[in-house]
Amino acid sequence: VVEKFDVIVIGAGAAGLFCAAQAGQKGRRVLLIDNGKKAGRKILMSGGGRCNFTNLYAEPSAYLSHNPHFCKSALARYTQWDFIDLINRHAIAWHEKTLGQLFCDDSAQQVVDMLLKECEAGQVTLRLRSEVLAITRDADGYTLELNGALAWAEKLVIASGGLSMPGLGASPFGYRVAEQFGLKVFPTRAGLVPFTLHKPLLEQLQVLSGVSVPSTLTAEDGTVFKEALLFTHRGLSGPAVLQLSSYWQPGEFITVNLSPVQDIDAFLNDERRAHPNQSLKNTLAKLLPKRLVECLQLLGMIPECTLKQLNSRQQLELASALHQWRVQPNGTEGYRTAEVTLGGVDTRQLSSKTMEARDVPGLYFIGEVVDVSGWLGGYNFQWAWSSAWACAQAL
Ligand code: FAD
Repeated sequence: VVEKFDVIVIGAGAAGLFCAAQAGQKGRRVLLIDNGKKAGRKILMSGGGRCNFTNLYAEPSAYLSHNPHFCKSALARYTQWDFIDLINRHAIAWHEKTLGQLFCDDSAQQVVDMLLKECEAGQVTLRLRSEVLAITRDADGYTLELNGALAWAEKLVIASGGLSMPGLGASPFGYRVAEQFGLKVFPTRAGLVPFTLHKPLLEQLQVLSGVSVPSTLTAEDGTVFKEALLFTHRGLSGPAVLQLSSYWQPGEFITVNLSPVQDIDAFLNDERRAHPNQSLKNTLAKLLPKRLVECLQLLGMIPECTLKQLNSRQQLELASALHQWRVQPNGTEGYRTAEVTLGGVDTRQLSSKTMEARDVPGLYFIGEVVDVSGWLGGYNFQWAWSSAWACAQAL
């Protein structure tokens, strides 16, 4: 027996839940499949359990892709304001934390519950713990071999996400489907992920584990992020580092400005006039965390002297070391802790209006499986909502 539907969506994450709900509410008979035992597992974990569901400043420039124009249409047709509207209609209280990042006041569970209610309103059939063993295409649609059952639909939507956090059900399933149907998949790598450091530096910086400083980080391609940097026992993390990691290639250096607001040279000149006998170390501890100053002194970046003993060459070297500290990461922590996967299904083979594969009628890719990745701060969920909505309009 083959169960028949209009649409089958594979992956009950952010994009799949929203797309299934929208299509169902348009009167389509929708089957939503996930191999996990819960829907929206990443949503539940997101934003420290409060789900950073969108960003007030979401716009195409906040997304990485081999084809930067691709995301424009969907983001313009279903915006952050549309999603905020939906959140408000479900009476979910929210707040802006920082930099336009919107979080639930209470819990990410509210977002999952909202999406499940929307699916109910669309009479979506949700099957959890359901493995897709094979997909075949005939003239009118797609037949799926599930564990113990067959399902058929005219349209098939792949919303199985990327590779980050295998513990939350991430799998290369979507990439394999793309390849099965002759679509190109760009190599993937971990994004929004902490950096690890090479041995001597790692050991020298480990005493700083837990120290956070405001910073400006610059990648070799010139990309700049001004946010907090966090030292960890494995290397470097914090929002500035996660953001920059998406723009970093193995072997490259990053440049860290540890005093992004105060000019070190001018600060030391002022301080010298007022307290010539003060130690350089204590002076810098007015600007930077004391543990950081002590550690940089051990690394030889800060001379052991008073302000009046510091000569102009030393002062310039110090200012440059603190404003332009060059660090070469060893690598990243990888998919285990990454928030997002860079690369994925090549967008040049998809319609930016509907997400349908140009040469494979009835096959759609939405969300993170597509080669579109956002910054940290709610941008990735907004892509999931926007691409899902655009797709649903065409189903
Ligand atoms: P997912 O939400 O990953 O959903 C994919 C679904 O497909 C999963 O349910 C999975 O079980 C299912 N699946 C996979 N393989 C198969 C298969 N073979 N068969 C059936 N089903 C399958 N982004 C933000 O914007 N804000 C945040 O606050 C935020 N926090 C995050 C926190 C963490 C810890 C992580 C890991 C990510 C976070 N992200 C955040 C990124 C965001 O979660 C993803 O970009 C987003 O979930 C992608 O949506 P998606 O629907 O494409 O994929």
